[in-house]
Amino acid sequence: MKTITRALDFRELGLTNIGFVPTMGALHQGHLEIVKVARQECKNVVVSIFVNPTQFNDQDDLKNYPRTIDRDLELLNSEGVDVVFVPEASEIYADNFSFRLSENKISNLLCGPFRPGHFDGVLTVVLKLLQIVGPNKAYFGEKDFQQLKLIQEMAKALFLNSQIVGVPTVREPDGLAMSSRNSRLSAIEREIAPLLFKELSCTKTVAAAKSSLEAAGFKVDYVEELWGRRFAAAYLGKVRLIDNVKIS
Ligand code: AMP
Repeated sequence: MKTITRALDFRELGLTNIGFVPTMGALHQGHLEIVKVARQECKNVVVSIFVNPTQFNDQDDLKNYPRTIDRDLELLNSEGVDVVFVPEASEIYADNFSFRLSENKISNLLCGPFRPGHFDGVLTVVLKLLQIVGPNKAYFGEKDFQQLKLIQEMAKALFLNSQIVGVPTVREPDGLAMSSRNSRLSAIEREIAPLLFKELSCTKTVAAAKSSLEAAGFKVDYVEELWGRRFAAAYLGKVRLIDNVKIS
């Protein structure tokens, strides 16, 4: 497994038939399932690890975002990953973020109003990474369904050459969607957290689900139904959790 930090060095590898998995590191089984799908479908698997500063609307969240690079590299090596791309913010944002990509429909929904600028940061960094890596397929988790949808629409709108593939959400045995931020939950918060998935999966109304979450101690940003799915975002203490399920 090669670790590359500069865009030019990546290009010089001259890889073909690439499956690409962008991440912010602090890897868990959710990330590794995506890597396994890419491993089955593509000759070369490339994973990026980049804690993208422009997608954090909350500077404390950026500062406290878990960073476990040595462990991440070991995990990726044992999954048979070919290349890990770990760029520097100074190279990715050599333009000081003066060029940025905005979308003004999907990104105004769900998380959009609660995280100003977040999706501009996501779309801009994903476009840059796709340009550097040039993958045939790029893989994203359904856990961040709004993000997946935005990236699929971006690929269409900008005639990108990569196929955008969604991978189902991986959960803990108690239903909690795996997330790098789960490690920041206290023991008590971790016990309450699976209720987010339970309330999404139940047949109560959206309003009733929201009340149950609030009664359990969540500070709820939204519970909403859209695109045949039920979505929620809510804080436990300082940790913001999101999840979504298909409505049957
Ligand atoms: P992140 O490192 O959180 O930016 O996530 C990198 C990729 O992994 C994104 O496409 C996420 O949607 C995906 N991902 C994160 N958590 C999960 C999960 N529990 N199940 C499936 N995919 C996930």
